[in-house]
Amino acid sequence: MNFAKNAPAIALGADDVIPRDHCPVCAGGDLVAYEKLTFREITIPYQRCRACDLVFMNPVPNQAWYDRLYGQAFWETKSAKAAEAEDLARQKQLIKELQRTKKLCATLDAVGCAPPQGGRILEIGCAFGLIISTIADHYQARAFGVEPSELAAGFAETLSGVKILAPTIEQLNEAGPRSDERFDDQPGDKTGDQTGGRMDLILFSHVMENVVDLNIVFEAIEKWLAPGGVVLMETPNSTVQNSTHIYHPYCFSSASLRHLYGKHGFEIVSLRASGRPSSALIPRYLTLVARRGGTTGTAAKSATSANIHGGLDRRIGHGWRQTIKRTPLKYLDRILTGLMYAPDRSARRRAAELARAHGDGGGNGENHRA
Ligand SMILES: [Zn+2]
Repeated sequence: MNFAKNAPAIALGADDVIPRDHCPVCAGGDLVAYEKLTFREITIPYQRCRACDLVFMNPVPNQAWYDRLYGQAFWETKSAKAAEAEDLARQKQLIKELQRTKKLCATLDAVGCAPPQGGRILEIGCAFGLIISTIADHYQARAFGVEPSELAAGFAETLSGVKILAPTIEQLNEAGPRSDERFDDQPGDKTGDQTGGRMDLILFSHVMENVVDLNIVFEAIEKWLAPGGVVLMETPNSTVQNSTHIYHPYCFSSASLRHLYGKHGFEIVSLRASGRPSSALIPRYLTLVARRGGTTGTAAKSATSANIHGGLDRRIGHGWRQTIKRTPLKYLDRILTGLMYAPDRSARRRAAELARAHGDGGGNGENHRA
């Protein structure tokens, strides 16, 4: 999301932040200073937990502050871009999402975690619904979403056929799934209505790093994911690139993700670093598949809390990335990326169609959703 350069600063006062004296993932107290993020005139420090390697904002702005920021950013981007440039940028973004979707399906297939035919899959932060509806088509599953933007949610329903369950995770938690045990026991049951029942898969595509309170996320997973169900997640890999950003209270690494999911009783089926589809040589993203245990807490707890994570892999990872960026290796990366991950014709066509539809419908603004 871009901001107009002359936009007024949003004040960040003591009432707008939550200070932490321990790590929000492992509860450890061995925290070291990491980076300072400067956004307009606001400085936000990050810390790194030496027990689990999580990098996080401390103090972190609260959700109400983020809601104000998102609200302002939406109107600024809307007015800052010419229609044509907006259309092109949207198409590029849609193509990337389709490439990412291909990777997510390949990941699920490789580890035998594809949703069953007729199964129910939910994306938190589904935007226009492109990723979750494409995955649903691929597996003949049913797509559900959570999306705060009314405009995006409207498109997700009308263009992508995604059933929106709630605008926010908090509201999803309040609603809760229908407490009909048939749904829990029979994944892929087709007899249910459109909103009840738990999910076979919950997807977070570049969303988990944006939330303020991870406990609310796992509360939602516990409520909505069927026993034996799968969480599929992708996030920037902070071991090779600084993913510090005003919208990123958390920067995850493999170690911190293992800790987070282990704590909540998940079995990590697969956790891989890869640059697909943006880079062949720099593993910029982490893709995780985790399966929910029968009862929470029975999975082996992550045993790393006693260890000190020195961050050596982080120094090596960042060094590797800079070596590629600052030498002719960057051209090699560009060529390889084009060869390995070029979008196919159908992805280009679908992106163009959707971008056109968004452009046509955009005039209705927030009222699009009837
Ligand atoms: Zn920690």
